Amino acid sequence: MSVSAPGQGQVLRARVTAAQGWIVTEPGARPRLVSEPWITIEGPNIVAVGHGPSARPPDAQTDTQTLVYDLGQSLLLPGLVNAHSHAFQRAIRGATHRRGQGDPSSFWSWRDAMYRVANSLDPEGVYTQTRACFAEMLARGITCVGEFHYLHHQPSGEPYPDPNALSLAVVRAARSVGLRLCLLEVYYARAGAGAGPLPEQRRFCDRSVDAYLARFEALRASTKPELDPESNPESAPWLSFGVTPHSVRAVPADALRELARYANEHRLPIHAHVSEQPLENQQCLEEYGRTPLEVFADAGCLDRPGAFTAVHAIHVDDSDLERMRGHQICACPSTEADLGDGVIPARRWREHGATLALGSDSNAVIDLLQEGRLLEMHERLAQRARLCLTDTDGQVAPVLLDAATIGGAQALGQPLLGKLAVGSPFDALALDLDHWLLRGVAPEHTLDALLLAGSAEPISQVWVGGRRRI
Ligand code: ZN
Repeated sequence: MSVSAPGQGQVLRARVTAAQGWIVTEPGARPRLVSEPWITIEGPNIVAVGHGPSARPPDAQTDTQTLVYDLGQSLLLPGLVNAHSHAFQRAIRGATHRRGQGDPSSFWSWRDAMYRVANSLDPEGVYTQTRACFAEMLARGITCVGEFHYLHHQPSGEPYPDPNALSLAVVRAARSVGLRLCLLEVYYARAGAGAGPLPEQRRFCDRSVDAYLARFEALRASTKPELDPESNPESAPWLSFGVTPHSVRAVPADALRELARYANEHRLPIHAHVSEQPLENQQCLEEYGRTPLEVFADAGCLDRPGAFTAVHAIHVDDSDLERMRGHQICACPSTEADLGDGVIPARRWREHGATLALGSDSNAVIDLLQEGRLLEMHERLAQRARLCLTDTDGQVAPVLLDAATIGGAQALGQPLLGKLAVGSPFDALALDLDHWLLRGVAPEHTLDALLLAGSAEPISQVWVGGRRRI
């Protein structure tokens, strides 16, 4: 029962309690599932965490200014971090599932449909589609998104009067919804080895790496107040950036080197699509005699520990597996299944020291809890075995939840996100334990039911930076 609810506005000081919670109880420890968690927040940030009836926080008795917000029969989780999205692609949800005559029904024919919508949007259209997508993400418990953004210019390739008009439309959409954004600003140059961009790819392309970097610097400068700690008392920013070569197909190796140099100098995360389709690997071998990951590594993209996130990374060989130690693999299993990409070797990636993150990619489905479940289930189908992605206790659910939270935060260069811990912003979601999906499940099985048999359906409330948004 709520003694006093803060409503939609900014909370100065509040204490949130629930029946169960996935919290970090000691500084630097792993999160764990506890009964009767309590979290004290001041403004946007978490200042104290505890659990159990015998450990009531002192402020509840002494400070009448502290709002007490009891979530009752709820499970409190950290906000989910979506490490890979193309928001505008939500516009073709449901529209690519009828086979036409002579349609090979491959990744590449799906891409034709996606390009048609990519070329139909003006700045206001980008804003509207992105905002609808981000609003759905928030309702599904996502509190931070890495938007892999490659719509930059007019369909002719000519820049808009403000060359960042479309990037700023994405920033505006995130702001209006209340979602944290890591804008993964994409560099795109060509259709493939030795070929300029196709007409439908022109609006993705900057004239040169220098033109891209000039635009990128102008974008970062024009949004600086969002990053300035003076004007933003939060422990994590609302807006951050990443350098994003689209793929080895779309970016030649010399440009990759320049992009890596800039990202390393400015300590920005680097994201790229890697080995999503066998054809991409085959063309890369023909052009360079190396695998895509080898080309990224040789260009310096993997020089800084933890800086690189390989999105998909499905068709990889043994030498590739070793290269990604300490970096991130972003899996997007619902999109990978939809497009017939193949199955990510998730267990092998973990064995080789890569961190898993999750993305909603095409946004045909927006539900990171289901993405986690599919990651494990695809592995089971591929291995014809059960319980594949386990931790040292033999549990799967914490591994999947980690991928949906701290794995994504690591990929986006925001280590304070994805956990309910002192010093992190209060980005959180509550799930209704009385929802039909979770009702009657024993408390010790709640996480397994949610991650391995559930979905985002029971999410009842979502906070970002101490504000209740849903
Ligand atoms: Zn993608």
